[in-house]
Amino acid sequence: MRRISIYGATGSIGQNTIDLIKRDTDAYDVVALTGAGNIAQLAQDARDLNADIAITADEARLPDLQEALAGSGIEAAAGKTALREAAARPTDWLMSAIVGAAGLEPGLIALQNGCTVALANKETLVCAGALVRKTAQANDARLLPVDSEHSAIFQALTGEKIDAVERIIITASGGAFRDWPLDDLANATVAQASAHPNWDMGQRITIDSASMFNKALEVIETKEYFEVDAVKIEVLVHPESMIHAIVGFVDGALMAHVGPPDMRHAIGHALHYPVRKHLPVERLDLAKLAQLTFRAPDEVRWPALRLAREVMDRGGLSGAVFNAAKETALDGFIAGKLAFPHMAEVVETVLDTTDPSLIDAEMTLDTVLEADHMARVSARRVIETRAG
Ligand code: NDP
Repeated sequence: MRRISIYGATGSIGQNTIDLIKRDTDAYDVVALTGAGNIAQLAQDARDLNADIAITADEARLPDLQEALAGSGIEAAAGKTALREAAARPTDWLMSAIVGAAGLEPGLIALQNGCTVALANKETLVCAGALVRKTAQANDARLLPVDSEHSAIFQALTGEKIDAVERIIITASGGAFRDWPLDDLANATVAQASAHPNWDMGQRITIDSASMFNKALEVIETKEYFEVDAVKIEVLVHPESMIHAIVGFVDGALMAHVGPPDMRHAIGHALHYPVRKHLPVERLDLAKLAQLTFRAPDEVRWPALRLAREVMDRGGLSGAVFNAAKETALDGFIAGKLAFPHMAEVVETVLDTTDPSLIDAEMTLDTVLEADHMARVSARRVIETRAG
């Protein structure tokens, strides 16, 4: 039996992973399931899957978790230390699906442990790409992409040499405000930004899709995962979300990955890799689909794409600064302190005003966490100044 853990089990990716695991429970020995606020779901899944331990990131909720697991024999724990310790337990495969930079440390520990990490948490590579690659290599651990675009690229590259890649095109639906008049964006509400036209995802990534910060993170993730030059990475708006990525080769061939917008494909691919197994996803009828459309991205509507290029050019710890500023600006938008278009302005100000020595520091877990912390402080200050 494979020993598996699911970090972020109560979220959208976590629940899709559990859906696949529950179809074949005899194949898996579940070590740890983690969540934060959704204690009822966490406890239910821990019981259903007979996990060794369930962990909430929120220490104040430990009594609730203990009560929900009473009599089950399943350990209950809480907080960052517990998340770290469980990631170091012997595990073969770990789904990294905590949202935000909070997902970085458990994933790194799992890699140090020689575990295969299925990476949904794109922030891990954005914040600490070189460190993550080095850690995986040093411990003979495998990192498998779960983001649909990166899973698509990974699959299109099977049997190919990275030197033969001329360009990588990642698609974007355009999110909730793709066709809105630009002037209306200033009045966009959180509820409107949280309604994705095609994908059913967690709220934060859904809003990031509307602002294209999600795509910006994915562009950086592409550079870090596949180690390709930033100039080879393109974004293409594709409203139907059926083609997830296209790899262009030096002979002009384009290899596209086509599939319905259902994360269980990419999750299942990483779960069963290197073999392919039956997955419960819709089979596309291309004749019925009839038409796929594409358009170039508009960087006035989506300044996050321009900022991603600046981050890739700057290198060092600028990815950690970018992500932390983005997460703080998103908190500000959700809390009603910031208008939708102002998120990008906050991130740009933080990037422009960060002490260069912070960005140029050698990349270690400590320096990444320091850059993350400083960028959050700086972003909060920018938001307060705006509000004042
Ligand atoms: P969700 O918001 O649905 O779930 C997030 C998970 O993380 C939940 O289990 C949540 O617990 C937990 N969590 C929240 N805050 C913390 C914290 N501070 N420390 C530890 N755990 C925490 O997110 P998604 O599933 O949508 O996304 C997860 C990751 O996967 C993100 O990095 C996202 O970018 C990436 N991703 C998501 C895709 C999708 O389709 N959803 C597609 C590709 C990538 P609780 O719910 O109990 O509060």
